[in-house]
Amino acid sequence: MPPTPQTPGIVAGRLDRTTLTANFSDIAPPLTAHEALVAADRCYFCYDAPCVTACPTSIDIPQFIREIAGGATEAAARTILGQNILGGMCARVCPTETLCEEACVREAAEGRPVEIGRLQRHATDALMARDGHPFARAEPTGRRVAVVGAGPAGLACAHRLAMLGHAVVLFDARPKAGGLNEFGIAAYKATGGFAQAELDWLLGIGGIDLRTDTRLGRDVSLDTLRQDFDAVFLGVGLGGVRALETDGATRAGVRPAVDFIADLRQADDLAALPVGRRVVVIGGGMTAIDAGVQAKKLGAEDVTIVYRRDRAQMSASRHEQELAATAGVRILTGATPVGIGGNGAATEVRFAYTGAATDTFALPADQVLTAIGQRLGDLPEGLAIEAGKVAVDDRGRTSLPGVWAGGDCAAGGDDLTVTAVAEGRDAALDIHAALMANT
Ligand SMILES: Cc1cc2nc3c(=O)[nH]c(=O)nc-3n(C[C@H](O)[C@H](O)[C@H](O)COP(=O)(O)OP(=O)(O)OC[C@H]3O[C@@H](n4cnc5c(N)ncnc54)[C@H](O)[C@@H]3O)c2cc1C
Ligand code: SF4
Repeated sequence: MPPTPQTPGIVAGRLDRTTLTANFSDIAPPLTAHEALVAADRCYFCYDAPCVTACPTSIDIPQFIREIAGGATEAAARTILGQNILGGMCARVCPTETLCEEACVREAAEGRPVEIGRLQRHATDALMARDGHPFARAEPTGRRVAVVGAGPAGLACAHRLAMLGHAVVLFDARPKAGGLNEFGIAAYKATGGFAQAELDWLLGIGGIDLRTDTRLGRDVSLDTLRQDFDAVFLGVGLGGVRALETDGATRAGVRPAVDFIADLRQADDLAALPVGRRVVVIGGGMTAIDAGVQAKKLGAEDVTIVYRRDRAQMSASRHEQELAATAGVRILTGATPVGIGGNGAATEVRFAYTGAATDTFALPADQVLTAIGQRLGDLPEGLAIEAGKVAVDDRGRTSLPGVWAGGDCAAGGDDLTVTAVAEGRDAALDIHAALMANT
């Protein structure tokens, strides 16, 4: 008998391949050409458009929508990509409901914004489907920059530096570049190997020498990079996870949600990926939602996300919370884990109602995914740290001369793909200004 959602334990193949393919298909399929024209037609092309202010990369949204409306889709893509080279990924993963689309005047007037994210995808997909790269490099400057971390921040930084004529060496610790675009984003948001396709396309600018399997602190040192290069950018993200500090947290079946998601993103065959029958996810952010929804889509019978505060305080947006509800994932709030019971492997998680330690209840669980936050991994000494992240000024400069940082690893920001892109791009512009001032 093949496994079913009711099979006890953590097992693979709870659902057949056809169901799994349907469950992990594109969550927001592309607009057709006609749908894109209709959607573009709803834009008022506002002067001082609030949607632009709300976009961390300041894409000229009315401009690109006007270009789509006029049939100039590739010009629209250039408008987007000139500001945000990962505009294709951001069109898929941005929480637009809390950024540009929330600010859209049609949202305020009618509760239905212009579909900016889907229009952005329409334009960028069209351009990326063509051969070649849309931007050319400036004359070589003779300057060399080391970019450490090939996630959204590092990629945006490397691309802008290459465009400005600098020679870039891009290091990443993992065997594959892309950062959380490749290992973190929910599978149904970036289908069809989009992260690697976008990476290859981005590297098409030339002048970026990608070196994977090269970890700062193990294979290269910051001192060496500072000696060998004219500038260094750190975009290393948050490599560490916060551990659950509760009784029984080391039982079999308990693991960080980001590891579960990374395995899922790298799986060639979703039917071979084990998932629990009863899954409890601890946390209240995007990672918790993504882990819960994907566990359910893999065939878990029962998935519950438990968060210690109330819904309004969850960092997952209302839209994400609705996504969980639609997938059949339960969200329980106001409860804190106090112990994981079991005989070797986890069988239940005990919770106390927040603020009432003696008022407890238990949820049966054979798999427990922890999503209580990430933290900076090991970093070289000498960098000033602020609130657990690399301290930077408003130009992305760290406390060490010649070293910049951006994205999730840098203080400030809001741990979104689009913010990492903006910070990587802006650091590149400041690096360029600093290097050119010394010529
Ligand atoms: C599960 C999950 C889902 C998410 N979903 C969304 C979403 O839907 N929408 C959204 O906007 N944001 C989402 N985010 C947040 C978003 O992915 C991050 O904000 C973004 O990836 C940050 O980019 P980054 O380049 O700073 O870091 P990362 O993407 O983490 O990239 C850092 C890179 O540095 C490399 N690295 C680390 N240490 C070293 C070292 N010592 N030497 C060399 N290389 C190193 C890593 O291998 C990695 O490739 C999600 C995050 C998670 C965890
Ligand atoms: S706020 Fe809305 S209507 Fe105005 S320019 Fe932006 S997308 Fe168009």
